[in-house]
Amino acid sequence: MATTKYIFVTGGVSSSLGKGIIAASLAKLLQARGYRVTIQKLDPYINIDPGTLNPYEHGECYVTDDGAETDLDLGHYERFLNVATSQANNVTTGRIYQSVIDKERRGEFLGKTVQVIPHITNEIKERIQILGNSGDYDIVITEIGGTVGDIESLPYIESIRQLKWELGKENSLVIHLTLIPYLSAAGELKTKPTQHSVKTLMESGIQADILVCRTEHHLNDELRGKLARFCNVEQEAVIESIDASTIYDVPNLMLEEGLDMITLKKLRLDDQTAPELSRWNEFLNKHKNPKSTVTIGLIGKYVELQDSYKSILEAFIHAGAENEVKVNVESIHSEFITDNVIANTISKLDGVLVAPGFGERGIEGKIKAVQYAREHKIPFLGICLGMQMAVIEYGRNVCAFAKANSTEMNPETPHPVIDIMEAQKTIKNMGGTMRLGAWECELVPNSIVSAVYGQETILERHRHRYEFNDEYRRQLVAAGLKITGTNPETGLVEIIELEDHPWFVGVQYHPEYKSTVSNPHPLFVAFVKAALDFSKTKQN
Ligand code: GLN
Repeated sequence: MATTKYIFVTGGVSSSLGKGIIAASLAKLLQARGYRVTIQKLDPYINIDPGTLNPYEHGECYVTDDGAETDLDLGHYERFLNVATSQANNVTTGRIYQSVIDKERRGEFLGKTVQVIPHITNEIKERIQILGNSGDYDIVITEIGGTVGDIESLPYIESIRQLKWELGKENSLVIHLTLIPYLSAAGELKTKPTQHSVKTLMESGIQADILVCRTEHHLNDELRGKLARFCNVEQEAVIESIDASTIYDVPNLMLEEGLDMITLKKLRLDDQTAPELSRWNEFLNKHKNPKSTVTIGLIGKYVELQDSYKSILEAFIHAGAENEVKVNVESIHSEFITDNVIANTISKLDGVLVAPGFGERGIEGKIKAVQYAREHKIPFLGICLGMQMAVIEYGRNVCAFAKANSTEMNPETPHPVIDIMEAQKTIKNMGGTMRLGAWECELVPNSIVSAVYGQETILERHRHRYEFNDEYRRQLVAAGLKITGTNPETGLVEIIELEDHPWFVGVQYHPEYKSTVSNPHPLFVAFVKAALDFSKTKQN
């Protein structure tokens, strides 16, 4: 029977080195050679999941088909591999402890003292092996969040040490991602921080098998030799990861450096099949050689932190390549959109995207942006809160419900055109309780969306508590709002469009989560196309 192979990715020296991108790039190369690969992220924080985290803390919360609220690295895994992830692909310390404590309360430990070793480490090892034991994968890559030496990562490092021993040399390996800083005053790349972080890993009983070295300058042979000698790895296991202009270059850079070859060799796997990357490279080629440019405004309130809207930004990259245009995304802070600046801010755009979000801050600016796009016939895409803002704007300015609002923002509004979902009313806990994950949506024929998707029923991912209030359906529709997608079981309104507007779409779900390199999301592709057409009409 074939054994699943396990690859662990740890980080040293500094955070934010891009472990997720390295893991996804290696996975891509292995997948391109015919292996079935998945990637898992272990996060050492105590939150059960990032669903309760402010985007400023940890970037976007990514949602899977099965409704897990997860780390944004899972988005990279899906975008690179085009394989769906699930709850099992993201584990946090909070979840590990919750599960162990629940078992203790049920008496499952038979009177034993419950301890980090073995109870927490056993739970971690079990979570790592769930994916491998499913039989769906030849290789499981597990990325450990944080930096080696952090107190909170210790149980994870110990679990890897044990697993490496249990699985055996040929079935597992550790890739340590580290930083080689460049001291400009000395004009030198420095290896000492890497030596120290490899040593820290060794203090926990783990010898790194492969070093991936982030660097701003190329590593020469002498430096590679030094790293190999002092970190106890073969020279061919010292892999340079030079800064790239796009994350989508990293698989090819890793291919050139032989990261996949050394991995396969160490895991005793066949390395004879050349990687099939033609679709990937076709995308890269289009991404790097756009024929024109469009500017799309991303109206949100977390715009200072690019990671907050990660999946949206990546979806624009995929859709841009598909249309062979460069999508210039202009981040616009919704709090600063006032009557004085609206015309200047929005009129130069070829498309307006109003972003998802929670709470009252910045919503009036979003509503103004919707109004401007509607009245000036600028292509518009509203996602989740963005769709809700479009309904409120229509209610206020077309139906004359001057104080129309969502009960999330104003529970006392006389016209709650957006209201809390029935099923949400009794829920008190904040974590994991929204309407989450993939839900069906039936599309109305002869609508923008039915042409865009070319399907009658779609599956898209959700993350919300509020919804279009059916009590206002008749009046809004009579005034020209079109409902072009609904949930077949509950009748919930999932998509709105407008009469008398060339491209205006609001969706209650998050299309951005499902856009991948090999499968750019059709709604983003169509939105970028509409923006391109609109920019041409402006030039004429
Ligand atoms: N705050 C809104 C709701 O809960 C929208 C959520 C979102 O944009 N993801 O319904």
